[in-house]
Amino acid sequence: MCYAIPGKVHSINGNIVIVDYFGQKKRAINELKTLAIGDYVYAQGGYVIQKLETAQAQDILATWQDMFSLLNEVDKEKFSLSQSTVTNDLNLRRILDQALVSNQLKNEDSLYLINLANQADTELFLKTANFLRQKYHQNACCVHGIIEISNYCKRNCYYCGISTHNQNLKRYRMNKEEIILAVYEAIKVYGFKAILLQSGEDVGYSINELADIIEEIKRKYDVLILISFGEIGYEGLKDLFKAGARGLLMRFETSNEKLYSDLHPGYILKNRIAQIKQAYQLGYFIITGGLIGLPGQTKQDIINDILLAKELKADMYSFGPFLPHANTPLGKEPIVKEIDILKTLALIRLLADQEAKILVTTALETLDFKAREKALLAGASSLMINLTPLDYRKFYSIYPNRAHERENLKIQVESVIQLLKSLGRIPIDLGI
Ligand code: SAH
Repeated sequence: MCYAIPGKVHSINGNIVIVDYFGQKKRAINELKTLAIGDYVYAQGGYVIQKLETAQAQDILATWQDMFSLLNEVDKEKFSLSQSTVTNDLNLRRILDQALVSNQLKNEDSLYLINLANQADTELFLKTANFLRQKYHQNACCVHGIIEISNYCKRNCYYCGISTHNQNLKRYRMNKEEIILAVYEAIKVYGFKAILLQSGEDVGYSINELADIIEEIKRKYDVLILISFGEIGYEGLKDLFKAGARGLLMRFETSNEKLYSDLHPGYILKNRIAQIKQAYQLGYFIITGGLIGLPGQTKQDIINDILLAKELKADMYSFGPFLPHANTPLGKEPIVKEIDILKTLALIRLLADQEAKILVTTALETLDFKAREKALLAGASSLMINLTPLDYRKFYSIYPNRAHERENLKIQVESVIQLLKSLGRIPIDLGI
């Protein structure tokens, strides 16, 4: 089983190639030296990452062919708007009609949606987001793995359970061999094609060491590597890009400058945003977003967060609930409601660029074990599976009782496959 399906190169223009997936055409950047029209490739995050033998690709595609149309049918039933409640709310109808044809909404209309309280109207809003998800991405759902390589962190983020505030946490740092072994299992046993390496801001690894690990992975495997090591600076980003990293996950956390400074004493939002912009300039696939439910955060802040992620050219939006951790200054804050997160995801789908992916975060799944399904039906199009070795995973406790904390890889993979099948989604990465 595999987390991407091969596509056929339809055309090549410089380093841009168009890849065909059963008739759906997607654009990707090619860095392979020899690639010709008619070749079969795997693409991830908008990058061609591997060329396949024609016979092998055709075998794989033959197994997908029937499944592809079957899954499409299942998805179609779910995204159809025809059985949806017709709302009596004419303003809502007007806003949703507008959203069906344009990803620009007036601020007051975004506020209206995010403030919806009536259950039937809210459902119609979420369904409209799912309809647009299908319109822009068909039934594709991209899946990537995450390895949390270290929980050491020098930062003082008020909400975070691996920050300097938590003095009661056992700290760990995986060495190169452990990281390569986890990557090996994910790729060779389970067929992952995109892996995110994440850590706290850990001074225990030098940029050279991180570059060496990434180079080694890229030497051994055809895989998209994404990184999330915090603010490593322009030179750090540049060196790791050179080593082979192609994606960056860096949330700006909140677009409200004052709230950002309050929650990160000594740090400023501008610097974090500058790094995300630099990463984009360097060619990284950008995953960014913020925390929902922070103390003092308003609905307007959340809309501003979405617009900031859009301005930062997010290829994938990562928005999830803030979950209080007892050993942090925000340990006693209330927990945000699940529906507020679903409404945020739906609004992202209405406002984001069409190609943008929307991630279901583990924090949302921690709020409700059924949240993955609910989010995928409210505009989300992307999932993440935790590949951190079980002995370490419980110590990456950014918030308590994380979903999948004790599930081995086999169980996680099986449940994702089952969920995607039940929703009619196909684990294809559509590229940009
Ligand atoms: N050092 C990396 C990774 C940080 S941990 C970086 O700076 O990007 C990854 C994410 O966990 C953070 O960006 C933050 O948004 C999220 N996080 C931290 N504490 C959290 C909490 N209490 N609830 C929900 N998410 C949290």
